[in-house]
Amino acid sequence: MLLEVRDLSVSYGKAVALERVSLEVARGEFVAVLGPNGAGKSTLLKAISRACPSTGTLRFADESLQALPAHAVVGKGICHCPEGRRLFPELSVLKNLMLGAYLRKDRAGIEADLAAVYELFPVLRERAPQVVSTLSGGQQQMVAIGRALMGRPSLLLLDEPSVGIAHRLKLEIFDAIKRIQRRGTAILMAEQDAQSALRVADRVYVLEHGQVGRSGTSAALRADD
Ligand code: ADP
Ligand code: ADP
Repeated sequence: MLLEVRDLSVSYGKAVALERVSLEVARGEFVAVLGPNGAGKSTLLKAISRACPSTGTLRFADESLQALPAHAVVGKGICHCPEGRRLFPELSVLKNLMLGAYLRKDRAGIEADLAAVYELFPVLRERAPQVVSTLSGGQQQMVAIGRALMGRPSLLLLDEPSVGIAHRLKLEIFDAIKRIQRRGTAILMAEQDAQSALRVADRVYVLEHGQVGRSGTSAALRADD
């Protein structure tokens, strides 16, 4: 297993956001976490990227993540594309993308990965020198995904990549995420739009009030509804 999460719990003060959540992601697999607002999806991704403290087991490529600080998690191959994108709006598209490679020293590899991001999202090549605040929401989401890819992840964590994006761009973004998976990157994606997620993900977990309810292959869950 690439990622193993066992009995993961997170509390914010007295409020329990995640309660004994267990899930797995295999190498190259595309897994979606569904659930309404407040279900704990963002908290789950933050806990995996060590951006918030948690209890339970977090293992990645047979190594425990629980002792690692957040920056070390990126070095292990987990890159997080957070909710709200968290871009630097007054910096160029190119600078925002390069920030995702801030831990890397392999210049040739960085250039190759930048070319791959432009291949995935051609509009970003045209807009490379433009400041991010001048881009549409969908284009900004492409920058956020591209930046995470510049960390060269073996697991990409995506937090609601389609939120607030026009329908046509949304399809384009899900299609790009599917292509990222086909290139060999495992994906764990939080998503409220179950219909879209079930179309692209291999397997899904449904999170409700911080706990996993249903889970299974997308085909099985589609058949249930
Ligand atoms: P989702 O991503 O599914 O919308 P979240 O993980 O953001 O869910 O939130 C899960 C629960 O934790 C919610 O009840 C939310 O209000 C609470 N929560 C999230 N972040 C914080 C925080 N920083 N401080 C306090 N409570 C929080
Ligand atoms: P900050 O705390 O100001 O975000 P960091 O040094 O943590 O500073 O991050 C520098 C840049 O790298 C920021 O643009 C940040 O969003 C991005 N970044 C940090 N962690 C990750 C990650 N796991 N995956 C992708 N990009 C990341």
